[in-house]
Amino acid sequence: TELVGLADQLEDKAEAFENLAKHDALTGLQNRHSFKHQIEWATKNSAEKNSRFALMLIDLDGFKRINDTEGHQTGDEILKSVAQRLKAFAGQDGETVARLGGDEFTAIFHDIESDDQLNNIARQLAKEIKRPYVIGHKEYQVGVSIGAAIYPDNTTSTSDLLSYADTAMYESKNHQNEFTLYQPKMTERIFARRQLEDQLAVALDKNEFELVFQPQVSVEGQRIIGAEALLRWKKDGQWISPAKFIGILESTREIRRVGRWILNQACHQARLWQQAGFDLTVSVNVSSIQFSDPDILDHIFSALESSGIDPSLLDIEITESIVIEDVHHTSQKLSQIRELGVSVSIDDFGTGYSSLSYLRDLPLTRLKIDRAFIADIPDEDEGIIAQSIIQLAHNLKLEVLAEGAETLAHLEFLRTNKCDQYQGFIFSEPLFADECTRLLERQPNDQSPQKNLASGEQVKQK
Ligand code: C2E
Ligand code: MG
Ligand code: MG
Repeated sequence: TELVGLADQLEDKAEAFENLAKHDALTGLQNRHSFKHQIEWATKNSAEKNSRFALMLIDLDGFKRINDTEGHQTGDEILKSVAQRLKAFAGQDGETVARLGGDEFTAIFHDIESDDQLNNIARQLAKEIKRPYVIGHKEYQVGVSIGAAIYPDNTTSTSDLLSYADTAMYESKNHQNEFTLYQPKMTERIFARRQLEDQLAVALDKNEFELVFQPQVSVEGQRIIGAEALLRWKKDGQWISPAKFIGILESTREIRRVGRWILNQACHQARLWQQAGFDLTVSVNVSSIQFSDPDILDHIFSALESSGIDPSLLDIEITESIVIEDVHHTSQKLSQIRELGVSVSIDDFGTGYSSLSYLRDLPLTRLKIDRAFIADIPDEDEGIIAQSIIQLAHNLKLEVLAEGAETLAHLEFLRTNKCDQYQGFIFSEPLFADECTRLLERQPNDQSPQKNLASGEQVKQK
C-alpha cells in the first residue's frame, strides 16, 4: 500500500509539472508554448474541415501605467480578471485562450465565415475587456488593441499567422483602433516604419536635425515678438516635416534625447538674437513623453544656464492632452517651470477634449488658437470659435495667439477681435535661423505699426 501511495504521489507531481509547463502560473491560461501546439492542431483541423479560423492577439492599453502606479499586486489582479473574461467569452472551449506574456493574450475563433462576423466578435470582446475592474475599493479601466489573422486566407504557416496577427495588433495600437484585421500591405508598412525608427535613432548623432523658426507677430504693431522653434529632419537630402516623425520619436522615446537637444539649440539661438539686439521669445514644443520625464525641469534649467539667456525669453508650448493626463501633476510641474521665469503656452488650443476649468487653475501665459479655427474665416460662422477663445483668454488674463493666419481676411478678423499675436504664412513660413535674422534686420526700429500688411484693405467681416 505504501508503494501504491508513492506511485499516486508521483503521478500527481507529474501532472502538476505538466500543468506548470503548459500553463501560465498567474492566470491559469495556457502559455505561449502550449498555445503553439493549439495553433498547429487548429490548422490541421481547419484543413480537414475546409473551414477558416481566426487567430486573435489581444494587448491591453494603459496596463503598464496601472501596474507602475498602483503596484504589481493590482496589476496581477487585473490580468487574472482579463483572463477570466477572455475564457468566459471564448465559450466552452476554454482551451483556445492563452496568455503570451505581460499584458498580451491570444485566442482562436473557429469557423469564421465572414470578416463581419469576426469584426463583431472583436468588438464584443473589446467591450468585455474594457468594462471596469473592481479591485479593493477602486475601479480600474484598461483599453485594448486587437489584431487578427485568418487561416488559410492570410497564410497557411502557423508562425506567419502569429506574426501577422501581431502586425495587425500593432496597427491597432498605432491608430488607436480597437480591432484590425491583417492585410498584406501592413507588413510593408511595418517594415518601412521599422526602417524609419532605425534611421531616427541615429539622426541626432548624425547631425541630421535642424531647427527652423516661425515668427510670432503682434497683431497691432506687426512686429516680430517671438519665434516658434520647429524641428526638421534632413533625410537623404530632403527636409522632412515633423508630422511624419515626431510620433515615431515619441513611441521609441527617442524624443527625450532629441527634445533636450531642441531645448538647448533653441535657447542658444535666443542668445544669439539677444546679443544681436533682437528681443524675441523663443517657443519650444514639448511633447507629452518629454514633459512626463522627471528630469524635464533640470533640462530646461540647464538649457537656460548654458545659453545664459534671460528665462523670460523662453516659452514652453504644451498641448491640452498633456494637461488632461494628470491635471494636478501638470499644474505642479508648470508652476515649477514658471518659477524659473519661463512662460507657458497651450498649443493647438480648442482641439483637445479637455474641460475648461483647468484653464483657471493652471499657471499659464498664453493660448494658441489652433489653425483649424482660423482657416475658414470669414466664411459663415467660422470665426465664432476663434472669437470666443480670444475673449476667454482675455478674461483669464492670458495672451492669445492665432495659428495659421494665411490671408488678409484672417488678419482683419484678428485685429477686429483684438487677438494679441499671430503666426502664419501671410507673414512668414518657418525659416532657418539666418533667414529669420535677416527678416529681423529689415524690421524698422521704431514702434510705429508697419502699414504694409492688411492696411486699408476693407475685408468684409461677418
Ligand atoms: P505646431 O506646434 O502647432 O506648429 C505649427 C505648425 O503649423 C508647423 O508645422 C507650421 O509649419 C505650421 N504652420 C505655420 N503657419 C501655417 C499656416 O499659415 N498655414 C498652415 N497650413 N500651416 C502653418 P510643422 O513645422 O510641420 O510642425 C507640425 C507639428 O509638429 C507642430 O505643430 C508640433 O506639434 C510638432 N513639432 C514640430 N516641431 C517640434 C518639436 O521641436 N518638438 C515637438 N515635440 N514637436 C514638434
Ligand atoms: Mg507649437
Ligand atoms: Mg500649434
